Amino acid sequence: MTNDTLFGKIIRREIPATVVYEDDEVLGFKDIAPQAPVHVLFIPKNLYIPTLDDLKPDQAWIIGKLVLAAAEYARGEGFAQDGYRVVMNCREHAGQTVFHIHLHLLAGAQLGHFGTP
Ligand code: AMP
Repeated sequence: MTNDTLFGKIIRREIPATVVYEDDEVLGFKDIAPQAPVHVLFIPKNLYIPTLDDLKPDQAWIIGKLVLAAAEYARGEGFAQDGYRVVMNCREHAGQTVFHIHLHLLAGAQLGHFGTP
């Protein structure tokens, strides 16, 4: 499966992004339209999984890697104690627009309630 999504292009450095985190499996970069003072996206570099609904049991480890990357970034940037939110949108009703799974990290202010239509 080829990853011709926007985020596939960011992984291959075909389009620019403000990369703030990288390890062997995960890339973290600033969201282009931030919904909070801190808004970073964490994505798998080596697995192409369009939506959470496509995640196979033997790929479940990557979700932990995304969460750990976000937590490490939050500690490194000094806002872990104040707190943060992580979100993954799956398909239309959640507003997913890029079909390469990604974890949103939102922080930097008191966040509002969410989840209502
Ligand atoms: P989602 O709506 O959950 O699929 O999230 C996709 C996110 O990608 C949105 O928050 C967009 O603002 C963000 N986004 C779209 N294009 C870019 C880009 N070129 N660089 C960084 N973030 C982007």
